[in-house]
Parts: sequence; structure tokens; C-alpha cells
Amino acid sequence: MIAMHNSFYNPDCLFCRIAAGEIPADIVYRDEHVLAFRDINPAAPEHLLIIPLKHIASLNELQSEDKEIAGHLLLAAGEVARRAGLYDSGYRMVFNTGADALQSVFHIHGHLIGGCRMGWPPF
Ligand code: IMP
Repeated sequence: MIAMHNSFYNPDCLFCRIAAGEIPADIVYRDEHVLAFRDINPAAPEHLLIIPLKHIASLNELQSEDKEIAGHLLLAAGEVARRAGLYDSGYRMVFNTGADALQSVFHIHGHLIGGCRMGWPPF
């Protein structure tokens, strides 16, 4: 367990607690900036979440100082997709942000979904 109480780690945030190893997760990728794990309630045959280790509530709270983290998260997506077997077949990355998008966990997470043919638009 990592005992940190600062703006990087929010003890009230589920995904901060997963990143700190306090709550178990099916982790598929980790590096110095991001973590990817399987969604507990998958919406597709493969459904992973890619999060920054730093607590950032949503895309709305992303600051210019977070540029490296944000870019890193996108760069990691291809490797996460490869590990999930989705690299060649294709996948979708979604960042639900705010009420209309039904964001329920307020720590940025990209939903990486795939393993089936999807439709568009998503509503
Ligand atoms: P949101 O609704 O876009 O904020 O997505 C939150 C996602 O987190 C949902 O797809 C949930 O199924 C997922 N989730 C919630 N709790 C856990 C957990 O403990 N482990 C893995 N995924 C979780």
C-alpha cells in the first residue's frame, strides 16, 4: 500500500486506490504515468480502462502541466490494445466526461473497448 495524501493521490477516489494497489484489479499494463486494467462490468467482449496514476477528475480538469501524462496515456493505448488482442481487429477509446456522458468515476479513464463489431453513433 502506498500512503500518500496529496493532489496526486486522492484517498476517496476508487481509481487512485486501484493505482495504489489498495483495491485489486485485473491489470494489463503499467508504466510510470498510466495504468490499464479490465473493467469490472464489461460493456464489450474486451473492455479496459486506462487511467493516469495522477488523480485528475475529468478531461475538464486537465491542465497544460499534465500534457506529458495526457500524451502518454494516448501513446499507451496501442500497447494496451495489443495486449488485449485488439490491435489488428480495432477498438474504440472513449472518455466519458460529465453528466450527459454518464461519467460515474471522477478520475480520468479512457474506456478501451473492442472484440466485436461496433455501431456508430453510440446512442
Ligand atoms: P464511467 O461511468 O465512464 O465513469 O466509467 C466508470 C467505469 O468504471 C465503469 O465502466 C465501471 O464498470 C468501472 N468500474 C467501477 N468500479 C470498478 C472497479 O473496481 N474495477 C474496475 N472497473 C470498475
